[in-house]
Amino acid sequence: MKIFNTLSGQKEEFVPLSGAKSRDILMYVCGVTPYSDSHVGHAMSYIYFDVIRRYLKFRGYTVKYVQNLTDIDDKIIDRANRLGVSVNELSGKYIQGFFDDMTALNILPADLYPRATQEIPKMLEIVKSLVDKGFAYPAKGSVYFRVRSVADYGKLSHRTLDSMEAGIRVEPGEEKEHPMDFVLWKASKPGEPSWPSSWGPGRPGWHIECSAMSVKYLGEQIDIHGGGQDLIFPHHENELVQSESFTGKKPFVKYWMHNGLLRLGEEKMSKSLGNLVTIKEALSKYSADAIRLFVLGSYYRSPLTYSTDALEAAERGAGRLRQVMELKDNSTREDAGRIDVSPYQQRFAEVMDDDFGTAQAIAVLFDMARDINRAKNAGQPIENARKALLSLANVLGLTLNEALKTGFEAGPFFELLKEMSNKIRQAKLEQVLTQAGLSKDGGETEAEAQENIGKLLRIRNVLREQKQFQLADEIRGRLKELGVVFEDAAGQTIWKRKI
Ligand SMILES: [Zn+2]
Repeated sequence: MKIFNTLSGQKEEFVPLSGAKSRDILMYVCGVTPYSDSHVGHAMSYIYFDVIRRYLKFRGYTVKYVQNLTDIDDKIIDRANRLGVSVNELSGKYIQGFFDDMTALNILPADLYPRATQEIPKMLEIVKSLVDKGFAYPAKGSVYFRVRSVADYGKLSHRTLDSMEAGIRVEPGEEKEHPMDFVLWKASKPGEPSWPSSWGPGRPGWHIECSAMSVKYLGEQIDIHGGGQDLIFPHHENELVQSESFTGKKPFVKYWMHNGLLRLGEEKMSKSLGNLVTIKEALSKYSADAIRLFVLGSYYRSPLTYSTDALEAAERGAGRLRQVMELKDNSTREDAGRIDVSPYQQRFAEVMDDDFGTAQAIAVLFDMARDINRAKNAGQPIENARKALLSLANVLGLTLNEALKTGFEAGPFFELLKEMSNKIRQAKLEQVLTQAGLSKDGGETEAEAQENIGKLLRIRNVLREQKQFQLADEIRGRLKELGVVFEDAAGQTIWKRKI
């Protein structure tokens, strides 16, 4: 397996940090600053890293995945002040919105989402140690990293200190020894949230957060660190230098991975430019599968341009794949004439092994879909190929399941169904949904309500088989509240609705 490493500037054979035989991977991806709704550019980055993580699992690795939340930042403070709410209230609202977006996009939750405001002691410990070792110095209540104290500053972004210095503007009031020195700890202005420190009240700089959370939750060295290409400099360059100076261990990260940026028209999609489409807006028009197909149809390191045409084409593609899942296998020939799925599986692994060639992997799925349709028309059995198609689609996080698209209609049973789907996803049981045969969405006519109750009961049974009793009991309890009574008898669940 090959991965493009920003640090070396080339594709490298993937060997885990703890040795070729190791199956344990430590992965950190920079998270959002929750001060407004996340946009499709964020979706793009987290979809790519979700697929990288899913593919590593598919290849037999165990991945520990941490993603931070920068819940203290100038932008959050400014916006909270303008709206007259507390910083916590504002970030709490947008963190929840972010989680909802990730769930709707079928992005697996991280193992941990540490929050900057809850990790201040670790940050202070690192800053203090950097000062003690001479890598950092306090000035007017702030603390700066001394870039001249290391020989290799600039190695990630492939720049030298001299080339960076040109064009750098020193902000008035900054007491830095060198214009490229960057802040580790900021003296707080009156009225800002602050924490006590040996240099006076202040708050952490952005870069130190990620060093602290990565070191605390994953250890001093990790396999993969990801983010958008706009984070290479200064964020990751600074994270790297402060982490290696603190631990004395190199490399801090074995593979630095950066995704290309999303454009809208000619420009990068960003909050500061104001040209963005939020994830919620995109999901109100397109299914999660379509958004994923759009994103994954392009190599993760390339820039991608958002357009209605491209999204609509992706939606049609999602429809073609879903349609295959709905074909009935009417063949009578048993195993004779079964499609041999191994060449497709092999090609899928080959293209994904080459630095996650998701565009080519999608092409494999469409080839399979076409051949399944042909086999169906020829009266050949298609069940095995269809299963193989779904399992490869799942590696790309595609569900091929209509029910998981947004736009659920209101109605008590459907609301419950939707809520349980979200809970089950959060409990990392995405397979349950497929196994339960959750298909079409709908409203709440009597017939549909009955169908939805049936789905919920099937989900409950799958959960019980998986010994997820708490969620199973919750479904039972909530259905009871809605007037459904049922009993388990002879391996079957019989239910009645009290109207
Ligand atoms: Zn970061």
